[in-house]
Amino acid sequence: MAILVQKFGGTSVADAEKILAAARKAIRAQKQGYQVVTVVSAMGHTTDHLIELARQINPDPPAREMDMLLSTGEQVSVALMAMAIHRLGHRAISFTGAQLGIRTDSTHTKARIRSIQTDRIRQALDEGYIVIAAGFQGVTDTADITTLGRGGSDTTAVALAAALRAETCEIYTDVDGVYTTDPRLVPEARRMSRVSYDEMLELATAGAGVMHNRSIEFAKRFSVPVHVRSSFSDMPGTLISWMPESRSVPVCGAAAILKEARVTVRGVPDQPGNAAAIFSRLSARNIATDMIVQNVAEGGRADISFTVFQEELPAALRVVEETAREIGAEGVSYDENVAKVSVVGLGMAKQPGVAQRMFQALADKNINILMITTSEIKISVLVERDRAIEALRTVHAAFELDKEPPQAEEEARPEEITNDRDRIIGRLQGMEDLVIESICLDETQACVTLSDIPDRPGLAARVFRQVAEREIVVDMIVQSVGRDGKAMMSFTVPQSSYEAALAACRPFCQEIGAALPAGRPRVAKLSILGTGLKSHIDVASRTFKTLAQSQINVEMISTSEVRLNVVTAGDKGRQALTVLRQEFAEELVDL
Ligand code: ADP
Ligand code: ASP
Ligand code: MG
Repeated sequence: MAILVQKFGGTSVADAEKILAAARKAIRAQKQGYQVVTVVSAMGHTTDHLIELARQINPDPPAREMDMLLSTGEQVSVALMAMAIHRLGHRAISFTGAQLGIRTDSTHTKARIRSIQTDRIRQALDEGYIVIAAGFQGVTDTADITTLGRGGSDTTAVALAAALRAETCEIYTDVDGVYTTDPRLVPEARRMSRVSYDEMLELATAGAGVMHNRSIEFAKRFSVPVHVRSSFSDMPGTLISWMPESRSVPVCGAAAILKEARVTVRGVPDQPGNAAAIFSRLSARNIATDMIVQNVAEGGRADISFTVFQEELPAALRVVEETAREIGAEGVSYDENVAKVSVVGLGMAKQPGVAQRMFQALADKNINILMITTSEIKISVLVERDRAIEALRTVHAAFELDKEPPQAEEEARPEEITNDRDRIIGRLQGMEDLVIESICLDETQACVTLSDIPDRPGLAARVFRQVAEREIVVDMIVQSVGRDGKAMMSFTVPQSSYEAALAACRPFCQEIGAALPAGRPRVAKLSILGTGLKSHIDVASRTFKTLAQSQINVEMISTSEVRLNVVTAGDKGRQALTVLRQEFAEELVDL
């Protein structure tokens, strides 16, 4: 008998009526012939209220006790859901995370799932029960309760679907699917009929709060089709699978993280090892860094900027200020009023000019870009927070995301996905372990650097317009705010276009009084490909550290969920490849 996992989010079980409505959906699925597992979140804003209550008692509560507290929210709703199903004349049994056999590591409040023992669930299903599973929680080997991080019930649901080899995982929520951007922020947003795993992963990490990003890692890794749909209607929803909605548009969606903060470590002595020290200490304290931009060294010193979630800023500053002193940096500055806006699309890798289009749209609205990082399927910019929603709306319009794109042809699931996944799963110790599919080297690129450019709206747009006019294909782009209102920008181009790119930028640099463009005619770009490269927060710091140990400087870096790129000096590529392959040997499953 096929198994169906359904998940109901907080708003979908906010009161007795809604719990009964969710119960009817579970019963309906059982009547259609499925064995049904229903994952539920805490009712309404319960988790927020519990967090608030904890803070009133202790502003810095022990993480273990926090998990003890937060897990109660889901325990209430599973019991009520089981009661609802009983009242409607069907059999149901509720389980907590521990009873479900969801084993996690001991990182309280952000635990990762190691394994799921499905015996008890299967037995209950075989006896005809609808199984009601508490979302968002698990238990350690020492029987301590853990939670998976905010929004983690999605991850419970997809993980259960994977462990039970369910046919589909249905996510019932308060929107009728995944939209091109958050419909609460941008009313023109359009529901997508489909979205691919990689796009959804990037969107979720870029701020599309509709799905917990780690749930999509599970979905991709274990090939679970996820169907996001409304709790309150029978609309068709959005299917998340290996297939995108369209193969012809460059961008499928946009997202924003409104509460980011930028930290800059100024005047870092330009020696391999200093960046590594900063990022490894942050990741050791479990602080995830997001955009990372390192400017070129001047006078033997570089500025390193990165962003973190605003709520993690105080902790990040504590770590960074201490490290800055130790490595002899000049100081630390930060900006708390910034937000990140990203566009995502599988199609952008094949189409030139996508970044340019985004920058131009923002320039036309006079929105200043404080930082830029790009990877193959994502472009992110940092803007002032009070312009963020306007920026999101602007890029949404620039890529005409409100219009239905030409639909991709129906494709059969690629055979190798199933085969490769089975091999990968066979090697996994823990279900959420880092998996790296390959590490590769590209020795065909050059890097152009513009420094001292005035930090004004429209400059990025102008740079890339000049470059695009000469039909030069730009690959990676990074930009960060520098000192005294001057910005620094680097981008890579094919080696054959290097001179042309310099020539394209020269008149513009002269006109605005910036330094002449400089760069390296030959760089090496190393790419680490996998899943969850960002949610495993130490991948970037391990990369920095490994390269530093071999005295290799990282000139540019960009991180995304599915790819981490680093640029080093051209003659260091082979060596960098070797040491990275050694460092990640355990996680690397060269397919
Ligand atoms: P649940 O409680 O069901 O887990 P969430 O609040 O976590 O629900 O997620 C649903 C919300 O996600 C929506 O109400 C919507 O405002 C927000 N959201 C953000 N980005 C998107 C998007 N791209 N598509 C749909 N909803 C989105
Ligand atoms: N109740 C938890 C939260 O609010 C988990 C979830 O709803 O997914 O974050
Ligand atoms: Mg949610």
